[in-house]
Amino acid sequence: MCGIVGYTGKRKAAGVLLHGLSMLEYRGYDSAGLAVLGEDGQIRMEKATGKLYHLDKKTEHGERLPGRSGIGHTRWATHGEPNEKNAHPHVSGEWKQGAGNFTDSDVIGVHNGIIENQTELREKLLRHGYTFYSDTDTEVAVKLVDYYLKKYQIGPIDAINRMMVRVRGSYALVLMFRDRPGEIYAARKDSPMIIGVADGETFLASDVPAILDYTRTVYYIDNYQAARILPGEVHFFDLNGDEISLSPVTISWEPKAAEKNGYEHFMMKEICEQPDALRNTLTHYLKDGELDFSQAGLDSGLLGGIRSVCIAACGSAWHAGVAARYAIEELAELPVRVELASEFRYRKLLLSPKDLLIVISQSGETADTLEALRIAKRKGIPTLAIVNVQGSGIAREADHVLYTLAGPEIAVATTKAFSCQLLLMYALAVQLAYVRNKIEKERYLYYVHELRHLPDKAADCISAKEKVQRLAAKLAGANDVFFIGRGADYAVSLEGSLKLKEISYIHSEAYAAGELKHGTISLIEKGTPVIGILTQSSVSEKTLSNMFECKARGASLLAVVSGEALSDGGAALKEEDDASEWRWIRVPEADELFAGLLAVIPLQLLGYYTSVSRGLDVDKPRNLAKSVTVE
Ligand code: GLU
Repeated sequence: MCGIVGYTGKRKAAGVLLHGLSMLEYRGYDSAGLAVLGEDGQIRMEKATGKLYHLDKKTEHGERLPGRSGIGHTRWATHGEPNEKNAHPHVSGEWKQGAGNFTDSDVIGVHNGIIENQTELREKLLRHGYTFYSDTDTEVAVKLVDYYLKKYQIGPIDAINRMMVRVRGSYALVLMFRDRPGEIYAARKDSPMIIGVADGETFLASDVPAILDYTRTVYYIDNYQAARILPGEVHFFDLNGDEISLSPVTISWEPKAAEKNGYEHFMMKEICEQPDALRNTLTHYLKDGELDFSQAGLDSGLLGGIRSVCIAACGSAWHAGVAARYAIEELAELPVRVELASEFRYRKLLLSPKDLLIVISQSGETADTLEALRIAKRKGIPTLAIVNVQGSGIAREADHVLYTLAGPEIAVATTKAFSCQLLLMYALAVQLAYVRNKIEKERYLYYVHELRHLPDKAADCISAKEKVQRLAAKLAGANDVFFIGRGADYAVSLEGSLKLKEISYIHSEAYAAGELKHGTISLIEKGTPVIGILTQSSVSEKTLSNMFECKARGASLLAVVSGEALSDGGAALKEEDDASEWRWIRVPEADELFAGLLAVIPLQLLGYYTSVSRGLDVDKPRNLAKSVTVE
């Protein structure tokens, strides 16, 4: 909905802008407007409600707005009724109705999207002496940029970056600055915007059709990036204000894969599907409010008679195993070994038929995991598989199968299948504890209740994704990232690190927090991101100390914190209203045994957004396959 255009070059800007807006009409709008910088240094504006031809008429096909650079907009109102006052462009000063309006404002802008915290920002600006003529959130954004320009005596890019850090919501924001004739500035988050470059002229639009008549060389500006546009050139900047280089794309028409259901990537779709996937998986194994694995042949006779558990898996599934170990040992008081399936065959197998081998694989076809399963079977060791794909090799060969009901997972980087594996392993830990008389009925029902609430809490983690997105924009420039945690938090660190590296190609490592001092800390340099996972109250203070040891050596810290896992020490990480600082991400409180399932979600999002920021192929990272069917 709605459209945005910009132009700077050798042509009459108003004509180009009106043409561009006409090509964006299909998006729907209720009013339109233009602002053009004249040769005389004056910026003239015109707005009109209703269809574009009203604006066309009012401006005499653009002739009344002479000049070679300008911005234009078709508005689909979200804040304030669709009238001329609320139509864009908006200005940092006052707006007076009237044809051929000159504006003496320093900042003039058009915007697609919604500024969600506009009320709070409006109040802030009112306190600083600004007045408002419109009801729009856009006027707030324009005035906020003006405020930062003047308060900090900085340039447009720095002011825009401060605005990006401060506003919540979505925007394609295009601005002109009175003291920068011929230049256009843009910033983007979650609203579409492209920049097209030709010889001596540059175009900006919400969508390709608006500029296709002029150029096919297009830049896709990313979230939390800003652009400075000059005739025939464009410069991009990250949230730190550093210039970055983006590669142009020559337009080809690729219809979006319908299966993505409107999501840009399968990975994001699958992250967002987690609450449903978790709910479906758990519900499948619940009967009369209790866990029931009898359909998989896991009765109390079998579960009660086990002497130890061995888990074999690869990649993220192995991480699910590492995470589950803590829950099984803690609740069921059973010894647990977690083995890399790819190493399994190279060890002497010290397992007996009193032990249970659990293999975990999304595809059910992972070659090494299948081989581990076969080795155990040959030795007469009972086997249980946790798989997502029905009828897969592992599902067929294992003695017992628990299915994750995650649905098809297409992105190479697993998200929903992983969290469903973890959920099933937690549920198994609870069931083992109960049938082995390690917990009373009341405690058992409490744990089941906690498991049942994980899907809703996962949804809360996902809905807080905007903050992670902002952090990812800063992480995108890192060379090395370290994830640290103790106990179950170490398992989350492993998965968080893998998520980041596999799709962003940033080197990252997960370390048991206490191990850092034994070597790795020498790699910490100024600005190295260190991400601490703090969901376990018994060890979080210690991990926090390790984080501060890193900070003392220059690291930038980010903490993923659950509930009350941090008491006083958390004060040191207090959230600041300044994106130049790393900070914490809080996930909803859950029983600490299961908190890892929630803590991993922001890390999935962090990997995703970092990959997107780096312009990579999120769903199909280089060199990787979804299902590793070779050894
Ligand atoms: N939220 C802004 C407004 O209501 C922009 C809407 C749009 O995207 O056109 O004016």
